[in-house]
Amino acid sequence: MKPPSTTKGKVIIAGAGPGDPDLLTIKAMRFIQQADVLITDRLVSEVIIDRYKRKDALVLHVGKQCRRGASTPQDVINELMVEYASQDKLVVRLKGGDVSIFSNILDELQYLSLHGIEFEIIPGITAALGAAAYAGIPLTARGHSTAVRFLTFYKQELIDDKLWDELSRTDDTLVFYMSSDTTDALVAELTLRRTPKDRGIVVLEQATTPFQRVYHCNLFDYPALMGGKKFRSPTLLIIGKVASLAGHFQWQPNCEKTEDYFNPVPGITKAEARA
Ligand code: SAH
Repeated sequence: MKPPSTTKGKVIIAGAGPGDPDLLTIKAMRFIQQADVLITDRLVSEVIIDRYKRKDALVLHVGKQCRRGASTPQDVINELMVEYASQDKLVVRLKGGDVSIFSNILDELQYLSLHGIEFEIIPGITAALGAAAYAGIPLTARGHSTAVRFLTFYKQELIDDKLWDELSRTDDTLVFYMSSDTTDALVAELTLRRTPKDRGIVVLEQATTPFQRVYHCNLFDYPALMGGKKFRSPTLLIIGKVASLAGHFQWQPNCEKTEDYFNPVPGITKAEARA
């Protein structure tokens, strides 16, 4: 295999996987080991940084957390990448999960291109795939579903009535990112429509981390059994026929402790990043 190029003045945008640090790719690990600057999101395991970074590497924690705490504005992140790459540094921009699923990679690619900065993209294991594996739920299990959809419902406008109608009828497995605060509304939208009675819901809290917890029930029982429940961040939802497989093949047991694996990120300003 070709070793990663060590060209300086370049940005490597890499997915760090969903939590378990061992789910990092070897390619991403190799670049982290060489990086002068690491710009990392909230949902990137600290273990990855501590384990692989150079002693003298500059680590900048930037991050977004929907409706909780502050965030680092995207333009600050963009400028930091360009600033350090222009100083001939090797910059590794680490994102939780995969880089192309519900991330702001497009903004970053456009900004880097605009400024003529060279980049590479390294995929990562997205939360849906990590969570499904650790909970033993095949997303397209034979006889259950032949397709998967990655969706989000963190605000009302994202899904209109027409799409809810379609989602309630489909046999596709539905995976919702960034939607744990709106689970009650989401379940109501589906159950008020024509959703078949055999649909279940799996809620995967802090999947693939030592604090993983998995809850599951029939979609129609959700309001009575779990309605109003607050989940720890990050949490993912899997809805569909495959939810009936939850509990059968989960090999990592539910954690008894209630702790947060990922630190909340206060978000940094450009001045703080330079300090
Ligand atoms: N790019 C990321 C997704 C970023 S959006 C990826 O590919 O996974 C952030 C959302 O991802 C969270 O709100 C949550 O829904 C989901 N998520 C990320 N890591 C998770 C984890 N370990 N367990 C459960 N959900 C997770």
